[in-house]
Amino acid sequence: MIDIGEQLNEHDPAPHRAPAPPPIVHSPPSGGPSLVHPIEPDRQRLEAGAETFRMLADPTRLHILWLLTQNPSDVGTLVAATGAHRTAVSQHLAKLRFSGLVSTRKIARNVEYSIVDGHLTRLIREGMNHADHRVSGEPAHE
Ligand SMILES: [Zn+2]
Repeated sequence: MIDIGEQLNEHDPAPHRAPAPPPIVHSPPSGGPSLVHPIEPDRQRLEAGAETFRMLADPTRLHILWLLTQNPSDVGTLVAATGAHRTAVSQHLAKLRFSGLVSTRKIARNVEYSIVDGHLTRLIREGMNHADHRVSGEPAHE
């Protein structure tokens, strides 16, 4: 079981109330990956973005992904946390893995699933922050 009690209160306004301008971080001198990609999206990037959003467009899959933003988990943990059937969870995980949004790591006899990158983690968390406004009626902000 994942303890998600703390994280459920994550929508503390503090982390995103002050819309600090995003840091201008271009590729570091090391040539490593960049946090900001100031590029006009072309067709290929729009298709890739739409494909990612399609993968998020299912409540159970979104729940699985959100849980994975909290902790890497195995199938059993995700089944317990979502209340979905094991077969359904396994199918969602296979699809997510196939699409490259989650990766796996074998630990003893278990397979642990993780979100592949920080952009996706932030996208999912922000999506759920947005959803909380929609559900709670809390006024919008920048
Ligand atoms: Zn908010």
